[in-house]
Amino acid sequence: MTQQFERVALIGIGLIGSSIARAIKLHGLAGSVAISTRSAETLKRAEELKLGDVYTQSSAQAVQDADLVIVSVPVGASAAVAADIAPHLKPGAIVTDVGSTKASVVAQMAPHMPDTVHFIPGHPIAGTEYSGPDAGFADLFRGRWCILTPMPGADEGAKQTLRHFWETLGSMVEEMDPAHHDKVLAIVSHLPHIIAYNIVGTADDLETVTESEVIKYSASGFRDFTRLAASDPTMWRDICLHNKDAILEMLSRFSEDLASLQRAIRWGDGDKLFDMFTRTRAIRRSIIDAGQDVELPDFGRHVNDTKN
Ligand code: NAP
Repeated sequence: MTQQFERVALIGIGLIGSSIARAIKLHGLAGSVAISTRSAETLKRAEELKLGDVYTQSSAQAVQDADLVIVSVPVGASAAVAADIAPHLKPGAIVTDVGSTKASVVAQMAPHMPDTVHFIPGHPIAGTEYSGPDAGFADLFRGRWCILTPMPGADEGAKQTLRHFWETLGSMVEEMDPAHHDKVLAIVSHLPHIIAYNIVGTADDLETVTESEVIKYSASGFRDFTRLAASDPTMWRDICLHNKDAILEMLSRFSEDLASLQRAIRWGDGDKLFDMFTRTRAIRRSIIDAGQDVELPDFGRHVNDTKN
């Protein structure tokens, strides 16, 4: 346990904010943690869970004297939070965020940031389909990547400090420019979620297959999409609105590839289907080899465990 900061302020205390709070406590990384969230209910719950030391609905109050400020709110709320906290930031403080889109967060927050602070946006590539302060856990970031998208000319010392913080939480850290981050995430995260929302919606709209049949036989594949499609609607609305260009680009490539697959099925082109399904199977293997999933069949679910 080595303290890295006198005071950390967490703005937003849902799945991500509360996981960070728990990890800070577990590793003894801060002298004190100030927690701020907009609703009285969430703040009360954070206090009941003993996630921090100071609790307030005022983000301006939370950031006072903080050496590290972490904003963990839906990306569409970034500008408003930045405007609220900016006049109260301590000179020399590191200000970061965890938002799933980066160019938009930079555009929303950077204009508000005073020259006296180090603004280093970030995105931990870790999460679940659950939200709120109860959903967090200290190990969420272990073995996962955290992408930092520092502004050009960002202070090396501040970058090192933030990198070290995420590494202590168990993450591997990489730097990228915001536009590249948004393209990468459009394919690895945003498109899969949109496809999942779409397929679950399609099943819900079907008239010739009943809803009870969809649910009863879901273990044949559908179930795996429903986990993604159960993700927080506010968060995903904001991601779609704030990474619009990269998502539309990936969606149009996806549609073209889908049309080609459709043609192969229509014309009975078994070789084409077999080659494609062989190529994609290798990707699954690479993900397991990279430690980003487990080798167990069915994502490690226990066959009789109905909770999974
Ligand atoms: P969450 O569990 O829904 O928590 C959201 C937090 O933001 C709560 O404290 C909530 O406050 C606050 N909030 C909601 N709307 C707000 C608004 N308009 N203005 C100010 N505060 C607001 O969300 P999360 O999953 O932790 O996600 C937080 C951020 O992390 C998002 O930017 C998301 O893109 C990013 N992220 C999420 C994941 C994931 O898998 N979930 C992974 C990586 C990154 P109240 O409850 O008090 O209203």
